[in-house]
Amino acid sequence: MEQKEDKLKEVISHAKEYGFVFPSSEIYDGLAATYDYGQLGSELKNNIKSYWWKSMVQMHENIVGIDSAIFMHPTTWKASGHVDAFNDPLIDNKDSKKRYRADVLLEEHMEKIRLKIEKEVEKGVKRFGDDFDEHQFRATNPNVLRNVEKIKEIEDRMRAVLESNDLEGVYQLIMDCEIVCPISGSRNWTEVRQFNLMFSTEIGSVAGEAATIYLRPETAQGIFVNFLNVQKSGRMKIPFGIAQIGKAFRNEIVARQFIFRMREFEQMEMQFFCRPGEEMKWYEYWKETRSKWHKALGLGDNQYRFHDHIKLAHYANAACDIEFNFPMGFKELEGIHSRTDFDLKQHEQFSGKKLQYFDPELNQNYVPFVVETSVGLDRMFLAVLSASHKNEVLEDGSERTVLSIPAALAPYKVAVMPLTKKDGLPEKAREIIDGLKFDFLCQYDEKDSIGKRYRRQDAIGTPFSVTVDHETLENNTVTIRDRDTMEQVRVNIADLHRLIDEKVNMKTLLV
Ligand code: ATP
Repeated sequence: MEQKEDKLKEVISHAKEYGFVFPSSEIYDGLAATYDYGQLGSELKNNIKSYWWKSMVQMHENIVGIDSAIFMHPTTWKASGHVDAFNDPLIDNKDSKKRYRADVLLEEHMEKIRLKIEKEVEKGVKRFGDDFDEHQFRATNPNVLRNVEKIKEIEDRMRAVLESNDLEGVYQLIMDCEIVCPISGSRNWTEVRQFNLMFSTEIGSVAGEAATIYLRPETAQGIFVNFLNVQKSGRMKIPFGIAQIGKAFRNEIVARQFIFRMREFEQMEMQFFCRPGEEMKWYEYWKETRSKWHKALGLGDNQYRFHDHIKLAHYANAACDIEFNFPMGFKELEGIHSRTDFDLKQHEQFSGKKLQYFDPELNQNYVPFVVETSVGLDRMFLAVLSASHKNEVLEDGSERTVLSIPAALAPYKVAVMPLTKKDGLPEKAREIIDGLKFDFLCQYDEKDSIGKRYRRQDAIGTPFSVTVDHETLENNTVTIRDRDTMEQVRVNIADLHRLIDEKVNMKTLLV
């Protein structure tokens, strides 16, 4: 556990040192759980957005993208259920005075039991070696079976109490599981209360006329209210999707763990409108498609797992998360939800406007069903950054820190370095950059020894470093160094563009 915390700390300090992420308003000692993306962070963020947008909008002829306002008519949030039901159950520990999400305490408790099971299996592997039959072991080992049963029991009780909004029941479950506060170690808990997560403010300057409006807690509603606008103006035929990237705001009870949980964050959401009755087919389709999108990054297939929701949100008939193995363990990265016709029907009811589609093949009007994919941009950022951050010991015994960011997402694609600051080498290096800069973000670096400059590029994840030396002036060749293999080869300047493009083009990811 401590090792994992150390890893997160290391990533946070690396992110700050190299200009990826800064604490917000740091000169005023920062604002809790608010972060700013620096010069490299915003490049990485833009590249992640672009990967998502291209894969959704550019690669699917039946998906289009929009950019709706953060402020929406307040009735939107009545209709969507957020005013009445967008709550988290919170609980305080009386000794540490720390506040927690009751559901998260329970989830983490179950995760601990899951880890016990995995340990037991590991022991089995060690004991039986090649003869080990994992399937058989999981099905028969009494310790494993007891823990599986324990988890199931907690899950069942948790589902029942959360669905019936039985806050006393949630409290009782926490007590029965003997969950202690990680800080104080005590079981001295307050009762469980509901807490609405929406931020509100007032619009209008005239006293008495001001109306409460909300900062959107999800981007999805901006898509729902524009469903007909897009369908009609874009002549879209069902099934089709609307994608959007934008800020969302939630007054999270416990906002810790760096950019994993913030009060202001960014979502990349896509709502896929389909025929009623076909939603489960599309739900499965999007589960698979989104899983492929993640895995194409090459961060390791075993870093992801699906997790079915224990308690379904008020709008869903099926929901799961794609979880990622963050430095803090497996946690939600993306949600895939079958939202039925709940949102469009609610908006029909509250606005009095029809939000239906005429299906020419069926010769029938209906309110479409919706499958949503919703991934947090900041969580994607943390996934990429933490999985890419590596401390390596090299063959000669020296050490390096490298960010092996997927090349297509890396902030700088190439650094161009003159071996010395004289003899016309800087001019030659700039000439090379002038030939590359229309397609790739390039960095010019002439300070310090070449070795130090390579380390700097490794630490910010630049896939290629090009060195200009005296031979370059004679025959127009340079050395190009690969960040991951550290191999250097001599190539013609004329070939640089192709060599770099082969590796950094977004095409390499868009499967
Ligand atoms: P959690 O259970 O972690 O609070 P959620 O289930 O409420 O998340 P969704 O409503 O499904 O999250 O939101 C979709 C995605 O938005 C999440 O998968 C996550 O990546 C991102 N997200 C949600 N809340 C936050 C937050 N506070 N900070 C950063 N990203 C967030």
